[in-house]
Amino acid sequence: MKIVKIDPDGFLEDDLKIPAEILRKGGIVAFPTETVYGLGANALDELAVKRIFLAKRRPPDNPLIVHVSSTDSIYRIAKPNRIAEKLIEEFFPGPLTLVMEKREVVPDVTTAGLKMVAVRMPDHRIALKLIELAGVPVSAPSANKSGKPSPTKAEHVIEDFSDEIDCVVDGGKTEIGLESTVVDTTVYPLEILRPGAVTKEMIEEFFDVREIRKAEIARSPGMKYRHYSPSADVLVLTGINVRGEMLELAERLRSSGKKPGLAAMQLGKIHDFPAYDLGKNLEEYAERLFDALRSLDRVCDVIIVEGVEEKGIGAAIMNRLSKAGRIYRV
Ligand code: AMP
Ligand code: MG
Repeated sequence: MKIVKIDPDGFLEDDLKIPAEILRKGGIVAFPTETVYGLGANALDELAVKRIFLAKRRPPDNPLIVHVSSTDSIYRIAKPNRIAEKLIEEFFPGPLTLVMEKREVVPDVTTAGLKMVAVRMPDHRIALKLIELAGVPVSAPSANKSGKPSPTKAEHVIEDFSDEIDCVVDGGKTEIGLESTVVDTTVYPLEILRPGAVTKEMIEEFFDVREIRKAEIARSPGMKYRHYSPSADVLVLTGINVRGEMLELAERLRSSGKKPGLAAMQLGKIHDFPAYDLGKNLEEYAERLFDALRSLDRVCDVIIVEGVEEKGIGAAIMNRLSKAGRIYRV
């Protein structure tokens, strides 16, 4: 696997020539976006897309998001309706994926046989330039093995893959740290199939939208799978006095021979457990969450996480945590 290190603030087009060439020729290239690292392949090349499913061990009924670098290319692969057009105008490029009617050119493997295609334009200089140079739409699920926490650093990608992929573009840490919001624009009210940094509140400024409940997950095939999980058990505590409860639980687990670790916002040094600081606000929490799960997984067998209120990006955080482990209200 080739590793191409790139400074997101000061790179030249030439630096991305090789990864773009690999994409164009049917190879697999991991690259940073503002959400998480993606595992990219030419979305119109059936064989290349199949290689993504193989490398990730991704179930074939879980469709991929197609990434583009221009509005023109959206129209080449999808048929946006008036609502989708408005959302494109407001939120692209950004952490929002739109499910729209697909065009013929998009092969069935990419959409897992669905008549709809999910499209996003990442708000990241390296990702945009790479897609533009490749000259093709790029299907890119998160660059982790299926079921593992999503990658927010190139190191995470390298941890999960070796020779199964051709290249990693290392552009440093991702800014948002959680995967994009996925919205189905073919129904009304619109449906949030996966919460993310573009929140329900933000979309509601323009259209009626509802978040689909667990019972309806068949609409977003990816949502039914176990996700984001380290090998350690993940226990998420929410409610009042969570800190006290987290420490008490950790003590109890330790006395029963377990190796607990803690992930919380500004926990401080009032304990001697392995710990990961999730920052001082929900944005920092989101950015750090997957790295916290991966880091603590190396030294713990139970990870106790401080839950958050399901408002704004908090909804996306709790959505990921509910898939990584079990949530307890204390
Ligand atoms: P990932 O590739 O890991 O970021 O996951 C992509 C998410 O988008 C999954 O939850 C998929 O189920 C969802 N998705 C992708 N394409 C479609 C589609 N055509 N219709 C509905 N959901 C989709
Ligand atoms: Mg994923």
